[in-house]
Amino acid sequence: MTSDNDINTESRTQTASARDPKRAANKVLVLPDTVSVKQLADLLDESPIDIIKQLMRNGIMVSMNQIIDHQVASIAANALGVRTRLDENKESGDSLLGNVEGSDTSADLVVRPPVVTILGHVDHGKTSLLDSIREAHVADGEAGGITQHIGAYQILYQGQKATFLDTPGHEAFTAIRSRGARVTDIAILVVAADDGLMPQSIEAINHAKSAAVPMIIAINKMDLPGADPERVKRQLSEQNLLVEDWGGDIISVEVSARTGDGLDSLLESVFLVSEISELKSNPDKSATGVVIEAELDRRKGPTCTLLVQSGTLRIGDPIVAGSTWGKIRAMTDDQGHSINEVGPGYPAEVLGLSSVPEAGDLFDIVTNYRLARSTAEDHQRQSKSQTSPLRAITLDEIVNQIDLGDIKELNLVLKCDVQGSNEAVRQSLEHLTEQTARVRILHAAVGSITETDVLLAGASKGIIVGFNVGEEIGVSKVAERMGVEIRHYEIIYKLLEEMSQALQGILEPTYRDIILGQAEVREIFPSRRNIQIAGCRVLEGRMTRGASTRVTRNSEVLMETSIVSLRHFRDEVNEMNAGTECGIMLQGFNDFQEGDIVESYRQERN
Ligand code: GDP
Repeated sequence: MTSDNDINTESRTQTASARDPKRAANKVLVLPDTVSVKQLADLLDESPIDIIKQLMRNGIMVSMNQIIDHQVASIAANALGVRTRLDENKESGDSLLGNVEGSDTSADLVVRPPVVTILGHVDHGKTSLLDSIREAHVADGEAGGITQHIGAYQILYQGQKATFLDTPGHEAFTAIRSRGARVTDIAILVVAADDGLMPQSIEAINHAKSAAVPMIIAINKMDLPGADPERVKRQLSEQNLLVEDWGGDIISVEVSARTGDGLDSLLESVFLVSEISELKSNPDKSATGVVIEAELDRRKGPTCTLLVQSGTLRIGDPIVAGSTWGKIRAMTDDQGHSINEVGPGYPAEVLGLSSVPEAGDLFDIVTNYRLARSTAEDHQRQSKSQTSPLRAITLDEIVNQIDLGDIKELNLVLKCDVQGSNEAVRQSLEHLTEQTARVRILHAAVGSITETDVLLAGASKGIIVGFNVGEEIGVSKVAERMGVEIRHYEIIYKLLEEMSQALQGILEPTYRDIILGQAEVREIFPSRRNIQIAGCRVLEGRMTRGASTRVTRNSEVLMETSIVSLRHFRDEVNEMNAGTECGIMLQGFNDFQEGDIVESYRQERN
């Protein structure tokens, strides 16, 4: 809600008063929990050096890029004659920039076009359907005209507009979602009538369900003699999707992308679902939205397609998109026409960013170029330090949150070796309702763990459970990057026990050993107090005094202890590296034999 005393909200559109501290003296700067020194400087229209100086005078040393909390920011602002207030609803500097849809009154909101994504199994006709809808209903009526590929296109059907995303498939859909963006309002699930539901159809259903996006079923290829729509509907019911003539409320439409039959009914259904979903947005403020596609064009420089979700995007607007910034220099629509502004629900290809953002990055329009730059730099640092709020969640964190009562569901992607165990594990997990929380299966299937599984788990703040399965190449890297936890089990009982403990918020964290070094015992010397000293050669890594250490003989662990003394000749040292010889004394171990391996390790929480 905008108030006269709120220069934060004013500053989005009306910078002058907010930028003059003297004029703003009677006003209140609404600040989030944390803000960078540079961002604060921009908000106060002061140089960062002045902010640093003010804080130094108050005994606080900060650097330009440092994130400071509200209290510290207030000291600087007050010293410059501006009062501040903590905005309880806003947690980070980002919220200074965008417009929160929830803050609009109903009078501000107008109906916007729905954004539609087409999902389905390979070869079921996703691309053909996108193409035939585009050809029949391009937005400006020039059917058959030259359409540009910008990642999204608009259609006009009986006076109503809809935006179709051009990259079909649930991988792209979930990849964007895993970056924190919600783009799609309606998913069309294409199922070939002659082929029926296939593994990727089921994957697509589960991805759409996890995103809580309403689905319309397009039963395609109805022109083929083998078309059997009833079978498709039965298979859908097995996935708990009941279409209307099976007594449910999911719309299904029989179509042929080849002949064009049924496309009108499909579009009518899209607008019906859109109306039910009451898709509204306020066009009368600065824009926020999502990057749909981006690339480096050799001639034009960084280009990207933005989908505006609220507000209106205009030429000249200073913009932050993920870790990039810039000023909108030019905009074109999906017909290649130059445009000056674009409203909610519409896509546009824009020029003017300093570098190429990533698909799924959120964009904001800010008050000036300087703020755009400092905010983008903050985003860059955040993603480097992995403190991004979009980071996935580990089971350990989920367990803590269940324990605190903050979450009630444990989201899982389940992959099993065979159909039999898939059913058994799935059913047992679904019956594992504890008082505190329950399991929600996002997707359960047979086969190795894939990147798509990681994306789904990451986008839904869930984890992956593998039962007797491996991982596809590269999966562990993606999982690590996104912070998605993968847990492997070989015994159903163990899997269920741990998940049950997790649901009760009592699963103890697990640790893994990181091996620091290994040494081989070559000779044994008695010391003065009858404690053995093992004369060792460090084979790998390094041995460190005080480190947790185990002794193994023929792969059998004899003792877990720690190094109490580490000697190089007569000197006590802290560390010995690979290739060197040293004397090792262990706490409470006096039974060395030649050939024993002494291994130092540290434990890390999984
Ligand atoms: P996608 O992989 O889901 O994008 O599927 P495509 O759109 O590439 O279509 C796969 C194949 O099915 C192509 O050979 C299309 O020509 C064909 N196809 C798509 N829709 C229809 C249809 O309605 N009827 C028939 N007979 N063939 C279709």
